[in-house]
Amino acid sequence: MTLTLKKFIYPFLLPNGLLCLLTGFGLACEDLPAELSSFFSVFPYLVVVAGGLLGWRFNRTRLLFAILLFVLVDVSLRSVSGDPGRILLQGAAVLLPPNLLLVLWFSERGLVNLRTVAWLLFLSAEFSVFVWLLRTHPAEMRAYLNYPLFEVPFGGTLFLSQPALFSSLLALLFFAWRAIRTSAAFDVSFFWAQIVLILGFSTYAGQPLRLYLASAGLLLLLGIVEMSHSLAYRDELTGLPGRRALYEDLVKLGSCYSLAMLDIDHFKKFNDTHGHVVGDQVLRMVASKLSTVGGGGKVFRFGGEEFSVIFPRRPLKEALPFLELLRSAVEDARFIPRGKDRSKKKPKKKPVGKKQYPALKVTISIGGAERSEKLPTAELIIDAADKALYRAKKAGRNRVCI
Ligand code: GH3
Ligand code: MG
Ligand code: MG
Repeated sequence: MTLTLKKFIYPFLLPNGLLCLLTGFGLACEDLPAELSSFFSVFPYLVVVAGGLLGWRFNRTRLLFAILLFVLVDVSLRSVSGDPGRILLQGAAVLLPPNLLLVLWFSERGLVNLRTVAWLLFLSAEFSVFVWLLRTHPAEMRAYLNYPLFEVPFGGTLFLSQPALFSSLLALLFFAWRAIRTSAAFDVSFFWAQIVLILGFSTYAGQPLRLYLASAGLLLLLGIVEMSHSLAYRDELTGLPGRRALYEDLVKLGSCYSLAMLDIDHFKKFNDTHGHVVGDQVLRMVASKLSTVGGGGKVFRFGGEEFSVIFPRRPLKEALPFLELLRSAVEDARFIPRGKDRSKKKPKKKPVGKKQYPALKVTISIGGAERSEKLPTAELIIDAADKALYRAKKAGRNRVCI
């Protein structure tokens, strides 16, 4: 359960989900405090400037493109009033979700390239055709944009036109699928931004659409900030927190804690015999075994094939059984490399006639140390654990030494 919380629920809900709920409910109220209205008049501009700067400096074209889409919707809606304005609003509700989806689909390849030109041309063509149809066939456009795709039970009305609801929910489904698949903060933020947009286009919206667009932009912006934070503190290969996170956590620990350094035995041999790709797979598999550590331990990738575990508020004597469990868990695991013809899912039956990958035997050596009067600083404790690890290697590897 804790793993599910850490892997899916936390990244999905915090902080984007929380902010989405707050803005969603906040903006749905019609009577907001007077001080907020002066803030709301500058809020969209702040988002555009901050998002533009962040997207440019962090080289995140998807944020820039999404903000450009929001600005386009806002500017075009503000320049057309009356009946055509209402049809334009319905058109934006239908067309914005697939356009946002297209933006998320892009890989980050920098701003100045042919793809940007092609996307801008596509967007201009889409916009021009829509405005031309609106001018020449307003009645048909209105009918299409409100086309009843299904019968609403009890003759009720929906909060969005049916085509808009269809396109929004389809995009939302796709955003949810992608967010669950990658757990990346920026992908998750598209999901929540889409929810804010649905609220903005719906009849429940208490405030002007531009505030919802700005909130969606803010959510995407936060997604980029979150993603950058995780890039700095998380190791990309294993998904574990990295050395920077370890040093930050060590500063926060009190006067009682233990620390262990773990190192894969003869790892160079895996790389030399099976190649770096298999070496990386072994690293990932070992990391996933280590992350099951009990006793309140927290695992970090220290660098290379070395990991660290800290046990806050636990002396080394109490941490040793958990370290021993880790050592035996890695020793007992069967690591089968995934070749090109081996799918990511575990096969139900043994494939007949296909090359069988031999299970690799992986072991780790562990050195432990604890905070004491002789070892008052984190550097000294890491050094002592390193020395203990060296003794474990010397003594024949696959063991825990203190
Ligand atoms: P020992 O049992 O004494 O620890 O021997 P060892 O072979 O594990 O130790 P050594 O330090 O000689 O080798 C570590 C190897 O880890 C060398 C390097 O190529 C490999 N390595 C470090 N980081 C990575 C990585 O991210 N991916 C892969 N595939 N290999 C890595
Ligand atoms: Mg090493
Ligand atoms: Mg090693």
